[in-house]
Amino acid sequence: MTRRRHQTLVLSYTLTCNARCAHCVSLAGPKVKRRMPLAEALEIYTGAARSGLFDTVYLTGGENLLHRDDVLELCRHGTALGLRTEVISNGFWALDVERGLAFLAPLVEAGLSTLQISIDHHHLPYVAAPRVRHALEVVRRLGLQPQLCTAIDRKEPAPPPEIEDPIQAGRLRLDQVTAESFDALVAAEWAAIDPDVEQLLVLYGVPRSECVPVHVKSSLLRAGDPRAEAIVARYVHPKIVVHHQYTGPVGRGATLEALPRWHVDQWQDESCHQAGESPLVTAEGDVFPCCSSWANEPQMRTTRCSGGNVEEITHAIRQDPIARFMHYQGPRQLVVFLRAQGHDLPEQYGNICDFCSSLLARFSRPQLEAFIEQYYQDQPHRRTFATRGLVFDAQVQDHEAFSSI
Ligand code: SF4
Ligand code: SF4
Repeated sequence: MTRRRHQTLVLSYTLTCNARCAHCVSLAGPKVKRRMPLAEALEIYTGAARSGLFDTVYLTGGENLLHRDDVLELCRHGTALGLRTEVISNGFWALDVERGLAFLAPLVEAGLSTLQISIDHHHLPYVAAPRVRHALEVVRRLGLQPQLCTAIDRKEPAPPPEIEDPIQAGRLRLDQVTAESFDALVAAEWAAIDPDVEQLLVLYGVPRSECVPVHVKSSLLRAGDPRAEAIVARYVHPKIVVHHQYTGPVGRGATLEALPRWHVDQWQDESCHQAGESPLVTAEGDVFPCCSSWANEPQMRTTRCSGGNVEEITHAIRQDPIARFMHYQGPRQLVVFLRAQGHDLPEQYGNICDFCSSLLARFSRPQLEAFIEQYYQDQPHRRTFATRGLVFDAQVQDHEAFSSI
């Protein structure tokens, strides 16, 4: 896991939600009464600022804006400490633009820096498309970047083609951008995105011409160039940034028969870059290396958070052997290793987190740590890569030569 000075701490502040989406990874819903005490969340903010390791706190859930006054206090506290607060919401509060403005404006005044709105087929029965459109308009009028988080079903186990950075690929020249050329570039960049994302936007009545795929904005932000910043301000900011991911049969989605699954042999190995990069603290103070289905197995926590001991929990996450394994080898490697030893693990998987969930649900932490040790004794070159902070590259054949570098 790479050490970055500034990263994001994720708080699962509440698991209560006014929706009960069929694919919800965190098992949130109206009857779920899990919520972090506000005083504990404020302490975590203080600890995050004190640690110097984080510049952002991301509130996930559940629907955190059901507790708007708590979020307001967290935003104010974060702003006073120099921390950004980001929130993801389903947009239920935007009954119309006027009421949405009245609801959200105090949060933005208190320093809310990002509000993402999540949409997909499973959200639609709970939050109708017009509310999402109102929410986007509210966010825009309050001066934030409108953002949509979309989720679609995967069609095949092969990893989607890697999306090129348009600046590095020479398609976006910082000195030659006009309104027309930027729109043309964005239209061409959509070709790299699964067409189901566009279908989803159509369903919500959001024209693709008003949207920018997130990789275009990321490319500009990474450039670290004043011209790129000006392009973001002028051409990206008025549009809607669209994030996209695949739904999977994890969390409540595990019960969805319709979600596609494929045989373990049809999948390729994939390391999980998320593992350990943005620690999650649950409503009960359990700490996990990611904000996905791992957090549904409380006994598999890495450690506990209390009294804002953020530096300590970050250290524990970086040392967690299971998180390190997922980060450097990926969960499929361990599934394949254990299946070859005769362990009873499923044949079919729907996404990378499904591999992880199968392991975490079947074995105890000491068992998994022992399996990982056995795995590394079997494949010492992979340990060498990981201890040097590198994801194993199957193309590098000469492992002994690598080990002697
Ligand atoms: S996916 Fe989001 S909106 Fe749906 S139940 Fe889960 S937390 Fe609530
Ligand atoms: S693969 Fe595992 S570690 Fe990575 S995000 Fe999914 S559950 Fe978390």
